[in-house]
Amino acid sequence: MTAPIVAVVGGGQLARMMAPAATALGITLRVLVESDSASAAGPAHESVVGLPTDPEAIDRLLAAPRPDVVTWEHEHIPAEVFDACAAAGVPARPGLAALRFAQDKIAMRTRMAELGLPNPAWSEITDEASLASFIAEQGGPVVLKTARGGYDGKGVRIVAEAAEARDWIEAMVNGGPRLLAEAKVPFTRELAVQVARRPSGDAVTWPVVESVQRDGVCSEVTAPAPDLAPERGDLARDVAVRIATELGVTGVLAVELFETEDGLLINELAMRPHNSGHWTIEGSVTSQFEQHLRAVLDLPLGDTSAVAPVTVMANVLGGARGDLGSALPDVDDAGAKVHLYGKGVRPGRKVGHVTVCGDEVAPTYARAVAAAAIVRDGGAA
Ligand code: ADP
Repeated sequence: MTAPIVAVVGGGQLARMMAPAATALGITLRVLVESDSASAAGPAHESVVGLPTDPEAIDRLLAAPRPDVVTWEHEHIPAEVFDACAAAGVPARPGLAALRFAQDKIAMRTRMAELGLPNPAWSEITDEASLASFIAEQGGPVVLKTARGGYDGKGVRIVAEAAEARDWIEAMVNGGPRLLAEAKVPFTRELAVQVARRPSGDAVTWPVVESVQRDGVCSEVTAPAPDLAPERGDLARDVAVRIATELGVTGVLAVELFETEDGLLINELAMRPHNSGHWTIEGSVTSQFEQHLRAVLDLPLGDTSAVAPVTVMANVLGGARGDLGSALPDVDDAGAKVHLYGKGVRPGRKVGHVTVCGDEVAPTYARAVAAAAIVRDGGAA
C-alpha cells in the first residue's frame, strides 16, 4: 500500500492537530485552508488555499495524486463538495447523509426522537406566536437556537418573552436559518462522549468526560467524568454507538449531553474531532486525531483506554497576552502539556489548550487551569 493521502476541509486547530498523528502513521495530510496563515497551514503536509464554497479550490484539493478520502474539521460543508467528491471517485467521510444531522439541529432533534433517544422538549419556531406558545408550555424562559451555523454558543440564546426574539424571527423570514426552541434543561453538569466508527462497522468509545462551559464556550474537560454512575456511563456510550451506527457516521462523533437529576439528555452532535476530546492526545492510548484518520481510512481502530486515573484539559481563551509563544518560559509545571494553535489572539477565542494527567481530580484540575491562565495572560486572576 502506498502512503495514504487524507484531504481535510477546514484549516483550524482540529486539522492542525491531525498533522502529528498523520506524520506518525506516514499519512500525507492535505488541508484546504482559508488562508496561508491558517492554524493548519504550516503543520499540514500539503495545503490548498481556498474556501469550501469555491469549486476550483475543491478541484485542487481533489487533484492528482488523488486523496484516498476527504474529511472535515467543521460541519459547514456545502452539498456541492460532496458532489465533487463523488464525481472524482473520492469517498467523503462522514458522508452528507450523516453529516446533515450535525449541520442542522432541527434534523438532529427529529432523528433523535425517531430513534427514541433522549431529547429535551423542543419545537420548531416559525413565528412569534409559536415561540410564545412554547414559552407558555414550558412555564418560563426557553433556549432559542438557529438550526444551522451556530458554534461556541453563537446561535444560542435564552428567551423569556417571544418579542425578544423578533430580530432572529425576522432574519429567518428573510431567508436566514430556521429556528428551534428547547426547554431550558436544569442540568447538574454537561458530559460528552466520543465514538469512532469505521465504514466496515467497528465502533469504539472513549471514557465519558465532563465539560465546563463559560459563556457558551468549553473551558475545561475532565476525563473520565468524576463520580459518574457506571450505568449512566454505559448508557452514554450506548447512545453514542447507536447514533453512530443508525446515522452511518464514519470517523469520530462527539455527543454532547446534559446530566440531570433524572438522567441524560442529548444536547448536540459533532462529526469530527471535538474540543471534548483534546484530552485524548496525552490521556488515551489513541488520540481522537489518530483515530479519526484511522476511521476515515477504514483502518483498524486504536485502543481508547485512558492512560492515567484522571486527565484534565483547560482551554486557553484569548486574553491579555498577544504573543502566546512568549508564555512558554513561564510554564514551569513539567507535566503541563501546552498546545498552541498558531492563531491570532482575540478576546475569548480558542487559541490553545493545556492538558495535565494525574492521580486525583482536584490537584490535576488546578494545575491545568493554572497553566492555561499563565499562557493566556501570565496567570492574572
Ligand atoms: P453550540 O452549537 O454553539 O455549541 P449548543 O447547542 O451546544 O451550541 O449550546 C451551547 C451551550 O448553551 C451548551 O453547552 C449549554 O451550556 C447551553 N445550552 C444549550 N442548550 C441548552 C438547553 N436546552 N438547556 C440549557 N442549556 C443549554
